[in-house]
Amino acid sequence: MAEFSSILVVFSSILVVFSSIQVVFSSIQVVFSSILVVFSSILVVCSRFMNGRVQQYPGCVQQYPGCVQQYPGVFSRFMNGRVPSSKRYRPTDYEHAANCATHGLWIIPSLVGGSVLYFLSVDQWQAAAAWLYGAGLSGLFISSTLFHTVAWKIRHLRIVEQRFHMCDRMAIYFFIAASYTPWLMLRELGPWSCHMRWIIWIMAVIGSTYVFYFHERYKLVELLGYVAMGAGPALVILSMADTAGLCELAVGGIFYVVGVAFFKSDGVVPFAHAIWHLFVAMGAATHYYAIWRHLYTPGH
Ligand SMILES: [Zn+2]
Repeated sequence: MAEFSSILVVFSSILVVFSSIQVVFSSIQVVFSSILVVFSSILVVCSRFMNGRVQQYPGCVQQYPGCVQQYPGVFSRFMNGRVPSSKRYRPTDYEHAANCATHGLWIIPSLVGGSVLYFLSVDQWQAAAAWLYGAGLSGLFISSTLFHTVAWKIRHLRIVEQRFHMCDRMAIYFFIAASYTPWLMLRELGPWSCHMRWIIWIMAVIGSTYVFYFHERYKLVELLGYVAMGAGPALVILSMADTAGLCELAVGGIFYVVGVAFFKSDGVVPFAHAIWHLFVAMGAATHYYAIWRHLYTPGH
């Protein structure tokens, strides 16, 4: 018994440390995101003036397939030329490394974050929501990092790369469903809106099935699918009786929306995809903070 209580003491001290880290983290987050916004605006402005003129490689008669354009300007080492919307942008080695790092760094924190919510749970609903949310959160960063590593190091294995890319895209749908789950499961909802609890997972399955059959066929449809699934259930959240946390949810949503501009800027802004990753990480961190603060430790 004494042993058990000492374990409990150790465990609760770890929890206290974690929550202090969270508070520090959220302040850093605000500073960091402001820097991020300023930095990316500067990059956008600079890239307009410093890219130089588009130039083809010598001996590259046809632009495509297999011909990578390069900019002779300041960013030539860091960014390849833009590709038509039917093709996939080919990142430089620097961009590949940044793509892997900007999501890889979040794998451990997301696993720890999910576990913290699980151990803070006081009933089986909270535990189940923590489990689903933690799995969706870490699943996103794991599948993204795996895909970007494969795309960088074994790009020649086209089928393997394609499969990892599909997993990366499917994980986004499950991540959106997972991010909404704690709110839908743990907050009081109306007689109609409570059905969103399971509808959102059906939407994730439909989205993933679409990716399975039409991967990269209609890119705009894919993007619209993510936006619809990301924004639609927010209407249910807005109808909640308890509105605490809505502000953080909106801030997180803004990170994702601003990030989409970079998601679409490959070959225009250097490291555009890595910047998109950072916006995703900031959005996810803001939402994690809101869930931790308002659903798992209310009253603190
Ligand atoms: Zn990515």
